Amino acid sequence: MKCPACENELTEDKVSGVQVNVCHGSCGGLWFHITQTRKIEHLKPGAGSALLHFELADGVKTYRGAEHPCPHCKTTLLYRHFYSRKFDTEVNQCAKCSGFWIDVGGLVKIINSQQEERKELLEKYFTAIMSEKISGMNLGNQDVAEAAAFITAIFNFLNPQY
Ligand SMILES: [Zn+2]
Ligand SMILES: [Zn+2]
Repeated sequence: MKCPACENELTEDKVSGVQVNVCHGSCGGLWFHITQTRKIEHLKPGAGSALLHFELADGVKTYRGAEHPCPHCKTTLLYRHFYSRKFDTEVNQCAKCSGFWIDVGGLVKIINSQQEERKELLEKYFTAIMSEKISGMNLGNQDVAEAAAFITAIFNFLNPQY
C-alpha cells in the first residue's frame, strides 16, 4: 500500500490490537481502515501513542494543496475534513471505504522535541485539534458528526498525555 501523500511504501504496525499503516521515515501519515477505527472507540485513550515514535524525513513533499487518492481504493479521492497549517496536521476520509488518512506530522515533531517544552506543546496541540478543528466541523450533519466521533477517538488513541 502506497502513501497517498508522498508515495512511500506504508509499513504495517500493530498497537493495542489495532492495525495501522504508517508512512515511516517519510511524511508520517497514518492510514486507519474503518474496521480498525471501530476498535479504537473501545480502547483506553493513549493506547496508540507508541505509534508516533518515528523519525520524519526532512523536506518530504506531501502535496498539501492537492487531493490525495485513497491508499485502499486507489482511484477514489479522499475528502478532507480539516487541515491545520500551524500544527502541520490534516485529516482525510475516503467516501467509498470510510477509512481515515491522518497526517500528524506536527504532533510527531512535538514528540521528538526537547523534554522541557513537550508538555506545553502537547497541550496546545490537542486543545487546538479538539476544540477548534473537530468542534469546527459541521456537526449538525449526521454523517459529519459520525466522522467527528471517529476522529476524536483516533486523536485520543494517539495522545501521549494519557
Ligand atoms: Zn507519506
Ligand atoms: Zn477508500
